Amino acid sequence: MGQDAAGRVEELRDRIRYHEHRYYVLDAPEIGDAEYDALMRELLSLEAAHPELASPDSPAVRVGGAPRDGFVTVRHSAAMLSLDNALNDGELREFDRRVRDLLGHSDYRYVAELKLDGLSLAVRFRGGSLVQAITRGDGETGEDVTSNARTIRSLPLRVADGPPEFEVRGEVLMGNRAFAKLNAEREAQGLPRYANPRNSAAGSLRVLDPATTAARQLDFYAYLLLVNGEPLLDSHWASLDRLAEMGFRVDPSRAACAGLEDLQAFIERWSAGRDSLAYEIDGVVAKIDSLAQQRRLGWTAKAPRWAIAFKYPPRQAETLLENIEVQVGRTGALTPVAHLRPVAVSGVTVSRASLHNEDEIERLGLAIGDTVVIERSGDVIPKVVRVKEHGDARRRFRMPAQCPVCQEPVTRAEGESASRCINPDCPARLKETVRYFASRGVMDIDGMGEALVSQLVDAGMVKSVADIYELKAETLAPLERMGEKSARRIVEGIEASRKQPLPRVLNGLGIPFVGERTAKLLADSFGSLDAIVGASADELQRADEVGPKVSGSIRAYFDNPRNQRLVERLREAGLRFTHDAPKREGGPLKGMTLVVTGTLPTLGRDEAKALIEAAGGKASESVSKKTSYVVAGEAAGSKLEKARTLGIPVIDEAKLRELAADA
Ligand SMILES: [Zn+2]
Repeated sequence: MGQDAAGRVEELRDRIRYHEHRYYVLDAPEIGDAEYDALMRELLSLEAAHPELASPDSPAVRVGGAPRDGFVTVRHSAAMLSLDNALNDGELREFDRRVRDLLGHSDYRYVAELKLDGLSLAVRFRGGSLVQAITRGDGETGEDVTSNARTIRSLPLRVADGPPEFEVRGEVLMGNRAFAKLNAEREAQGLPRYANPRNSAAGSLRVLDPATTAARQLDFYAYLLLVNGEPLLDSHWASLDRLAEMGFRVDPSRAACAGLEDLQAFIERWSAGRDSLAYEIDGVVAKIDSLAQQRRLGWTAKAPRWAIAFKYPPRQAETLLENIEVQVGRTGALTPVAHLRPVAVSGVTVSRASLHNEDEIERLGLAIGDTVVIERSGDVIPKVVRVKEHGDARRRFRMPAQCPVCQEPVTRAEGESASRCINPDCPARLKETVRYFASRGVMDIDGMGEALVSQLVDAGMVKSVADIYELKAETLAPLERMGEKSARRIVEGIEASRKQPLPRVLNGLGIPFVGERTAKLLADSFGSLDAIVGASADELQRADEVGPKVSGSIRAYFDNPRNQRLVERLREAGLRFTHDAPKREGGPLKGMTLVVTGTLPTLGRDEAKALIEAAGGKASESVSKKTSYVVAGEAAGSKLEKARTLGIPVIDEAKLRELAADA
């Protein structure tokens, strides 16, 4: 049996590694998410049942291990210095001239790579396995973020054909989509937004709980292969190819440039093409390809003479802030929007920018009539960076006391940054609610965009999202820019949306603080909409990541009779009200919540957690009346005391194994 399990575990790990490489590194998946999840689930449950088979390079660590208390500082194998910058073509020519002078000839080539806007990470491998990941830090020493880095799917945990010991340096970044999603989620939870993808990648890599890093969808691009702090191969170009062969993600746009002109063309090309990328870049890195030449060129006190970072100018422009108007969102939040004198910013005309909220306007010291600096980055909405010059007749902005659409009074709750229109019949809120409900990623109703929603609400045909399910092709066809064919297509889209899973329905309702992720966690935890509607504020907090603020908001929503009627109408429309939570096979601990505390004789904290979850139980961090058992090891502290106070049964590791195995 042991032999069989070991064999199966190895087989699963190999298959998962293969598919991770196809999906996360090559962007060419061979299997769907469900199939991948099934492989991963089987591996997790086998590893939990056979803790002796656990291994730090198993793909099972991708889900994130136990949280930790802090980070340890580690010295780098060789300094991680920054590169000199060139801010314009003149400085680039100057750099090239120096290279030519120092080498005494022009027989050299550059390797050009996009300069990814993330943070540098050094990753060490021993015997083919990832053993340590260290942030850049001050260049001499960085922080050990190994368990967080292991959750980055495009970073291989095991490399089949590398040297016995080596180090890979690269950039950790967050793609534009993951960044936009993260900020939307944070906004829904009332948390401050991250300013840019680099800050959010840095923040995500340095959280104490690896599960948080895992959820953030970071990416790793390798750019250097070292052995004992020295480059392994004598050509940088060959080194990048080697890294790609070893399974690392390497900049796919990289190019060998015969000389300055080639390099200038590369820089030019990506200056125009950067908007087409799925992540932010802030320039181009050029390195001399030959290591022998690199050595001859050497270093200055702070940077190599054989490399340069060409920085693209920030995509900023100055323009006049003509007005600030207020938009009403789906939760009634009033968002000030800057109306700008139209200005071109690297090829795109910008006439609006988000100002987020009143506090942001205060912070910027902004008034209507001022000249402001605006900035675009990636596919993120342009923002006002600072005031350039005060206008002569500047006018302070004040958040209106009435909703600009329905004229009802506006409120701003204590400690919240947003003012809200709380009129549930506000047409602006209704339009946003319906548009969000129908949008991609929620109920996904093809063709039901902003223009159509606006028409439907203005015509009184849609007064709540439930009305969508009573729309017919005959009533839609006479609308402006519609026609029979499009009307039929929309009705088909509505029909198809009835099959969307419960988390999407729940997300679509627009309950404040319940976004995509929270909706999924609630559905996983409760299994049906009725169970959620029927749960008390305390019971709702059983779901992961749901605290008093979120549970209070959910309760307030479902306690409102209007929303209760809405739920009934959606039920009649045939929407999905039940949800199959991820299957937890085995199940001897089904329905039980266990808390592990202290040091167990053989199981690590995350192994114990995995064992509990594989047996269908829930592993929790805090002891409460709902705790079924506390598993205590050596040096158990306050949690054990609390268990005794509350009269919760306390068991040891042996008993835990017994319970978990008892099928
Ligand atoms: Zn209103």
